[in-house]
Amino acid sequence: MPAFQEYFDPSHQLVRDSVRRFVEREILPDIDQWEEAESFPRELYLKAGAAGILGIGYPEALGGSHEGDLFAKVAASEELMRCGSGGLVAGLGSLDIGLPPILKWARPERVVPQVLAGEKISALAVTEPSGGSDVANLQTRAMRDGDFYRVSGSKTFITSGVRADFYTVAVRTGAPGFAGISLLLIEKGTPGFTVGRQLKKMGWWASDTAELFFDDCRVPVGNLIGAENMGFACIMGNFQSERLALALMANMTAQLALEESLKWARQREAFGKPIGKFQVLKHRLAEMATALEVSREFTYRQAAKMAAGQSVIKEISMAKNFATDTADRITTDAVQILGGLGYMRESLVERLYRDNRILSIGGGTREVMNEIISKQMGL
Ligand SMILES: Cc1cc2nc3c(=O)[nH]c(=O)nc-3n(C[C@H](O)[C@H](O)[C@H](O)COP(=O)(O)OP(=O)(O)OC[C@H]3O[C@@H](n4cnc5c(N)ncnc54)[C@H](O)[C@@H]3O)c2cc1C
Repeated sequence: MPAFQEYFDPSHQLVRDSVRRFVEREILPDIDQWEEAESFPRELYLKAGAAGILGIGYPEALGGSHEGDLFAKVAASEELMRCGSGGLVAGLGSLDIGLPPILKWARPERVVPQVLAGEKISALAVTEPSGGSDVANLQTRAMRDGDFYRVSGSKTFITSGVRADFYTVAVRTGAPGFAGISLLLIEKGTPGFTVGRQLKKMGWWASDTAELFFDDCRVPVGNLIGAENMGFACIMGNFQSERLALALMANMTAQLALEESLKWARQREAFGKPIGKFQVLKHRLAEMATALEVSREFTYRQAAKMAAGQSVIKEISMAKNFATDTADRITTDAVQILGGLGYMRESLVERLYRDNRILSIGGGTREVMNEIISKQMGL
């Protein structure tokens, strides 16, 4: 009989332990206050950089570790989510959507080491006020002018938008449609580039989300990421790892909600017994645990295929939809199980319920995922 293949090995447990200690020491004591303040100290990037957390999955030569070890990244992401704030994880982790195109298609030495050290912050700017799903139709224009591109247009809903130093920006350099899109590295402080207000959100309070404006902003041609007009393929490639990350976030959100529900079901009494002894709640908890287990296994399976170099365009879209929908249901059930307390800001499930709502919107909406899945099915 073939040996059962675990996804994680002892080295991943070490990663898990170290990230968990970081979360317990540096995040958990303050996270409620940071959520209310809708921000966390910039210093946390430096601390996460020094602890080696930001560099997990990146080349050692650029200040990273565990390059090519996807399950080290999975373990680190899951443990970071133990802080219970999707906003903090998204803010601290915006490098994971901003850097990959630079790593693969540009000169990473200038940018990546500073970001992995937490000295600089990276963001990805694709979405525009006119729409985010229809990436091929984006409007921000970059006209070649000698050694520069002159960029005009705007972006919105950009994670780490206010605080970032390096922005990986999708622009139109060519004809209408997907074949006219490029990626540019645009630095904070470039004349003609301004950052708008920090947007107020339903959830992810600790993350900074902003609008960006480009008004005849002159960007050196050397800041082009990849070849001109090849940006769409770079963006689509980037989405695969982002969708895995969002599925993992959803699964961990569900895990925390389930743990909170179990704790409460054991301790809260009604009609003379713990509420977890009522069959309706026992079964609900059993169903929550089952759905989460299925979602997590399916997500891990896709991660394993990605680690093996397989294309999982359809399956990763399925994993994202399944995980985010499952976590939406589980966080709703968790609020119900905690009763009035579940509606209070002092309870973790209240935040998990709000935070999870973005996960079926960002990184490609549920409907866009279904478009991809059905297209892959030949429809
Ligand atoms: C908190 C937060 C953080 C974000 N961070 C970033 C970031 O860092 N960088 C970045 O670039 N973007 C970011 N986004 C933007 C996010 O990726 C977009 O909101 C998302 O892609 C959807 O785009 P949209 O909001 O313009 O909705 P639209 O594209 O206008 O869609 C509106 C509705 O129409 C549906 N729809 C659209 N097309 C179809 C179709 N073909 N079939 C069926 N239904 C369809 C959508 O599913 C959705 O329900 C963030 C958003 C939020 C809220």
